[in-house]
Amino acid sequence: MMARLGECTMVLNEIPFELDPEALLRRLRMDAEGPYAAEMLEVARAVAAAARPKALYEVAYIEARSEERVTIDGVIFTSRVLRANLSAVDRVFPYIATCGTEMDAVPIPGQDYMAEYCRDAVKEMALAAARNYLVKHVRDRFGLKRVASMNPGSGDLQIWPIQQQKELFALLGDVEGQIGVRLTPSCLMHPNKTISGLFYPTEVDFVTCRLCHREACQNRRAAFDQRLWDEKVRATEGRCASAPGEA
Ligand code: SF4
Repeated sequence: MMARLGECTMVLNEIPFELDPEALLRRLRMDAEGPYAAEMLEVARAVAAAARPKALYEVAYIEARSEERVTIDGVIFTSRVLRANLSAVDRVFPYIATCGTEMDAVPIPGQDYMAEYCRDAVKEMALAAARNYLVKHVRDRFGLKRVASMNPGSGDLQIWPIQQQKELFALLGDVEGQIGVRLTPSCLMHPNKTISGLFYPTEVDFVTCRLCHREACQNRRAAFDQRLWDEKVRATEGRCASAPGEA
């Protein structure tokens, strides 16, 4: 795997984020008149005031393809589905979007489980803001009508194994120095509300959830699709549990 300096990496670090109290309470499944709502909104406002969502991406080019591999700017990725989804494109946009590290530093009194849950919910909302901003930025800047995304670790294991976060981070250079996101030895990302992936132009929507057997996932965006599975994955072997996360 070739090390890169990430010389073409672009950082978006002034992404607007404003707390939507009603959306937060819906996320927390709380009634606005309920006993904890005011307390949780106070925590959420303090956390949101510190939010600095960020994103980073790069314009990269496909250099080679084989049956189950694709080489992007010198870095080899192994995934039949990724290879198939990128069959008609030459240019891709590897990216990372994050809620930022700042909200974790906001003090919350005591060991309040609900307040920590609330903090996580605000972080999820900040991550959504970062991802949406990034998608619009890439589409506008490069004149793309529609982009789809694939993410290492989303969907069943063999769709795009989470271990290939290492290759993705190698492609993007000094991610921690640029936006504070660190890859752990088990290929998870810190802060926890961070997504990584690769945007590509498409005419056809692709949502990894359609290739994911995980039933109890509250983030599911589309139903499992047996036809798509047969078409894209049937030749692969060894299905096992998916990593939770954005698809
Ligand atoms: S969001 Fe859930 S259902 Fe969708 S790919 Fe990820 S783990 Fe699977």
